[in-house]
Amino acid sequence: MVNFVGAGPGAEDLITVRGQELLRAADIIIYAGSLVNPKLLEEANADCRIYNSAYMTLDEVMKVMIDADRLGRRVVRLHTGDPSLYGAIREQMDRLKEAGIPYQICPGVSSFCAAAAALQAEYTLPAVSQSVIITRMEGRTPVPELEQLHLLAGHGCTMVIFLSVGMAKKVQQELLRGAYSGDTPCAIVYKASWKEEQIVRGMLKDLPQMAFTHGIRKTALIVVGECLGEDYELSKLYDASFTTEFRKGTKV
Ligand code: SAH
Repeated sequence: MVNFVGAGPGAEDLITVRGQELLRAADIIIYAGSLVNPKLLEEANADCRIYNSAYMTLDEVMKVMIDADRLGRRVVRLHTGDPSLYGAIREQMDRLKEAGIPYQICPGVSSFCAAAAALQAEYTLPAVSQSVIITRMEGRTPVPELEQLHLLAGHGCTMVIFLSVGMAKKVQQELLRGAYSGDTPCAIVYKASWKEEQIVRGMLKDLPQMAFTHGIRKTALIVVGECLGEDYELSKLYDASFTTEFRKGTKV
């Protein structure tokens, strides 16, 4: 059995309890060294063999996993944040399936959640935005035609943009082709939940400058949308006149 485990966004106490237990029980850990906090590896038992996948190809990762499983070892593949986002787990799962090796996934706290916490923001605000788009700017990895940033930006909802802070100027241009204006609030969150966390707030017209001034070129998210602004409506759920399954509303 191979366990894919979400390591969380960085802070070592933001892994799930289940994820921590799996780490402690592992005979082999293969971790994504570019972003997983090495402190998490202190949980491993003394005999555990640890591999950093940053130096490995897919074939090499699969060989370690498959050989270990054949010997009955417990394998943890530790991915940053939640494995379902930009985690490249599908290709590993498909190879395991071919090899007849069962696997499970333990979810993790994604960096987009840690960024909201750092910003003390609510991404979905009544009358402001009820949707969050998670996406990235096209880089060496292509983005499908219909998901080009300027097209997604047409919704004007909350957007969290991964893997793109190094292209902040291009991101800004694409967002401005959509429903946002130069005055739309935005933020860059660098290393959310790590000790080195930095939050830079501003307006879309300043986005490239915000990244440049703070020397932020990677390991950051760009958040854009009016959810970072001042205006919203109160929720219906907690409105005194609103009846729900659990509470009868009072007449006003
Ligand atoms: N699966 C991960 C994302 C991996 S892609 C998740 O759920 O968060 C790697 C990108 O995620 C980085 O380039 C950066 O854009 C973002 N990222 C990961 N950890 C981050 C953190 N702690 N703070 C800000 N951005 C982070």
